Amino acid sequence: MIAEELRTRIPARNVLPGNSAHYLADETEGRGLRGHADAVVLPESADEVAAVVAWCYEQGVPVVPRGGGTGYAAGAVPLDGGVVVALERLARVRSFDPPFWRMEAEAGVTTANVRRIAREGGLQFAPDPGASEQSQIGGNVATNAGGPHAYKYGVTGAWVTGVEAVVAPGELVRVGGPLRKDVASYDLTSLFVASEGTLGVITSVWLQLTPAPEAAWPVVGFFDGVGAGCAAIERLVGSGLPVAAIEYLDGETMRYAGAGFPTEIPAGAFCVITEADGSHDEAAHVRADALELLGEDAIALFAPERPAEIAALWRWRDGVALRVDAQRGGKASEDIAVPLDRIAEGIEESLAIGRRLGLDACSWGHAGDGNLHSTYLFSREDPDAVARATKVSEELFSLALRLGGTISGEHGVGAVKTRWLAQQLGPKASELHAAIKQAFDPKNLLNPGKKTAFPS
Ligand SMILES: Cc1cc2nc3c(=O)[nH]c(=O)nc-3n(C[C@H](O)[C@H](O)[C@H](O)COP(=O)(O)OP(=O)(O)OC[C@H]3O[C@@H](n4cnc5c(N)ncnc54)[C@H](O)[C@@H]3O)c2cc1C
Repeated sequence: MIAEELRTRIPARNVLPGNSAHYLADETEGRGLRGHADAVVLPESADEVAAVVAWCYEQGVPVVPRGGGTGYAAGAVPLDGGVVVALERLARVRSFDPPFWRMEAEAGVTTANVRRIAREGGLQFAPDPGASEQSQIGGNVATNAGGPHAYKYGVTGAWVTGVEAVVAPGELVRVGGPLRKDVASYDLTSLFVASEGTLGVITSVWLQLTPAPEAAWPVVGFFDGVGAGCAAIERLVGSGLPVAAIEYLDGETMRYAGAGFPTEIPAGAFCVITEADGSHDEAAHVRADALELLGEDAIALFAPERPAEIAALWRWRDGVALRVDAQRGGKASEDIAVPLDRIAEGIEESLAIGRRLGLDACSWGHAGDGNLHSTYLFSREDPDAVARATKVSEELFSLALRLGGTISGEHGVGAVKTRWLAQQLGPKASELHAAIKQAFDPKNLLNPGKKTAFPS
């Protein structure tokens, strides 16, 4: 019925039945989260998105925006039905101006394509979240995605200068644009960043690019345990050396995911990956200093220079999550972030949660940003382990808040962390947060139940 109505408003070829399985789940499917929809639409233009939202808003039908479906928070999963608006056909680069370091890309352009096109113009789109061939720039903006190089270059929001979006009750708005400065209004552009589909459907974004570095050379150190590894990370940060990334992988992660690492890994060692980039001379200087800093107490160092080896290293890093996932079939994992001076504590205590719950645990993440992907493995065939794993998130979130951190450094709140957001924000900030939602979406139809509580 809803699909039939929508077929009268946008081309029928762009409306799929609600049971189109591909559009009903994201990376949380392993946690049992799968939705059901009344229809799935694949608009080919921003005007079609506006027509769909206008009809849904009038009829009281929820709208669930969907990018590449790589989210870890069930943000794109239609848990309470409604219309999934999948942006994959809005995939044009509307403009690319290398001399001005900028691009306007429609929401459905994949992250990898944004990066590829920028590179072909001698530029770089700095954010590099791990699932870049599937995730879309609209999804990256909606989650404010990060990645290893966020340490030097910042997360997606740092590179967004404007947003075009369909807002309630079905109108297209543009905030910001191809501008480097704009302080005229409240920062409406930033409100769409990390909004997780709850304030509007992003249809296009203006991106600031940066010249691609001439050279980018990783430097890897292996250390005897969490303490030594974190001391090296603190040395790196404290030195002010402008490395592009500081990643960590603990000994257990290396044991689970080490296959394919482009050099021999000392058994049980804690791994720190950093990268020197810039002009050839700058990168050479930073690389030498990074080798010296990590080398102070590293068990082993690895500093590949051949492009094939460097590509293999980052390809390996991108695949770590999937290799760990494959170990037992079941995993519980979150993306808390803590202040930089609490990283060692954050890692040690998150591993202790595993010991307490009787689950094998490992931890890796973006150390330079204090962002921990601590992960707990279990077999889905073991109901007792499954029951224990349900306690993981609770324990990790209270750890994050106790250390002065956040319940999400990357993946967002989605459907899975809403209760905890209120706890992180406290009553007054929660009230302001909910008031923003109400101002944008008075009927609570834009991705309802995700991210924020609607004021009662
Ligand atoms: C292997 C792997 C590695 C990953 N590595 C990283 C990483 O390094 N850093 C990181 O931050 N994340 C990472 N992620 C998580 C995920 O890729 C990011 O959150 C990504 O930004 C989600 O983009 P998406 O297009 O897949 O969005 P989806 O999963 O489709 O949606 C995510 C949220 O954004 C909303 N949304 C999507 N598109 C729009 C739109 N056009 N308008 C309004 N709202 C929209 C959805 O409603 C939902 O709430 C990883 C995921 C995987 C599977």
